[in-house]
Formats: sequence, structure tokens, C-alpha cells
Amino acid sequence: MAAEKTTGIVLRVIPFSETSCIVTMFTRDFGKVTTMAKGARRPKSPFEAALDVLALCRIVFLNKNSDAMGLLTEAKLERRFRSATRSLDRLYAGYYIVELLNSMTDDGDPHPELFELSTQVIRQIDSSEISDKEVGLALLNYELKMLSILGHLPMLTKCVSCGREKTTIARVSFGLNAGGILCGACRGGESNIVSLSPEGLQFLLKIVGGQIGEQSRNSDNWNGQYQEQLNINENVNLSKELVGEDSFSGAEAESQASERTEVLEEDTTGKEADRSSKEVRRLIHKYITHLLGFQPKLYKFLRNL
Ligand SMILES: [Zn+2]
Repeated sequence: MAAEKTTGIVLRVIPFSETSCIVTMFTRDFGKVTTMAKGARRPKSPFEAALDVLALCRIVFLNKNSDAMGLLTEAKLERRFRSATRSLDRLYAGYYIVELLNSMTDDGDPHPELFELSTQVIRQIDSSEISDKEVGLALLNYELKMLSILGHLPMLTKCVSCGREKTTIARVSFGLNAGGILCGACRGGESNIVSLSPEGLQFLLKIVGGQIGEQSRNSDNWNGQYQEQLNINENVNLSKELVGEDSFSGAEAESQASERTEVLEEDTTGKEADRSSKEVRRLIHKYITHLLGFQPKLYKFLRNL
């Protein structure tokens, strides 16, 4: 039984006995880890106040080799999540990150990049680094980067099924099962399709290409292939004569396919960017729900963001 040192984000704390807790953390070096924290509920706990949800802690734990639960022996608080007392929306945003980490990652499967990304976005949400209005976009950025790190980033630049390049500015079909956009020919046999507007797709490509959100501030182009496609797409936008000449065109949707196609409701009052942002967030929420097989509980609390 080895004593391991790492840093972790507290995801869940469950009282176990009068004095102990079961603590789940997403750690930098070991991924998701669940340990017993003996004495954590005593007035003078050896863990002090480190074991709060969303807190960042340096920990030492005894890692048992079998399926047995590890034993937490030290937890020192590095940073507490303070928004709980300031903004309910930011608290929900933080809880949503916890829910995603809990449901999208496996025990003992480390993703150091996801750990760094998570601590970064939690810090942003918990500070005045970003305004209230930017919290929703920060979450969308986080969702997409998380999908990328975990190998689930949808294909957005060509048909995920046959590889055909997208060359029009028409609406596209996004296949939740297929994991990306589908051309007219491939859409026929697919179920679970969501229709995405050209503005929505462009917005999505800009985020993934690092042109919208936190990445643009850091000039951190986190996905070069999308950057390239974005430039192509912007050129295509100017070539109106291409509209409708490609099997990606939404105009020639077969009646069968359109029955299966769910058009996301669109808000016609807001600005275009706002509308695209909302459309894309709804799409990504549907995609994550599809990947997980259930809808994250926190979705309904994120409506104000
Ligand atoms: Zn295709």
C-alpha cells in the first residue's frame, strides 16, 4: 500500500459514520479517486476545512491495489470555491463542472490536461476574471475542450460518415449517434439528428478554433485543424452561388429525414451571436446527454447563464 501525493478537486463528500467521510476527488495524477477520510467530521479534524466541494487540495492518500477504498491521510487546502456566498449562478456553474467530471471520467484514469483545464475554469468562475455574462461561454468552452481531451469532440468540418467536405452555408444535420455533421446522403439512415444553423456551426467552429472565449485572450489556438477549416468556411460564406448545390444543403432534406430531424427552437429577438451561442449550447448539451445516456442534473439550473 503506497502513500501517494497529488493535488485534487473535491467532487463529493458523503458522511460515512459519526466521524468519517467518503471523499471523491478528481486528481491530477490518478484521475478520479474515492477515499475514506477518517475523523473528517470531528470538530478538530486533521483535514481542517479542506474537504469542501470544488475546493482544490494537496492530498496524501494510501492507494489500495484492489477494489478497496483508499485512505486519505492528509488534505491541505490550496484554494476554496467562494462563489457559494456571492452568486447562485456561479455556484451552479461550479457544480456543473463537478457533475461533468464525476460522470465523464473513470476511477483511476488520469487526464492531467483535463485537471489543469478544470482548475483554470473553476478559478475563472469563482473570480472577477470573467463577468457574469461570460460564465455561460466559459462553460461551453470547457465542455468542448473536455470532449476534445476525452476523445469525443464532434466532427464539424466534413461528413462524419463518408468524409465529404462541407462547402455550403446551408443548415446542417448533426448526428448525435454519429458524432458530427452528416451530408444529405449519409443523413438518411441516421437517427438522433439535430438541425444546426449555418451561424451556429460557424460559432461552434470559432470556439473550437480558438477565436471566441478565453482561448482568444491567451492566443492559444487549441485545435489547428478547425482553425484551417474556419478560414475555408469564411471564404465559402462569400460564395453564395454554392448554396444549394451540395448535398449538405438543408433545402433538399428528404421528408423521411426531416421527420427524424429535431429543429432546435430559435430565439428571434436576441443578437445573432447570442442566438448562435444559445443554439450551440443546446446542441452540446444534447450531445453530452447522448454520450452519457442521461441528462446532467445541473442543466436546468444553468438557464440564466
Ligand atoms: Zn456523408
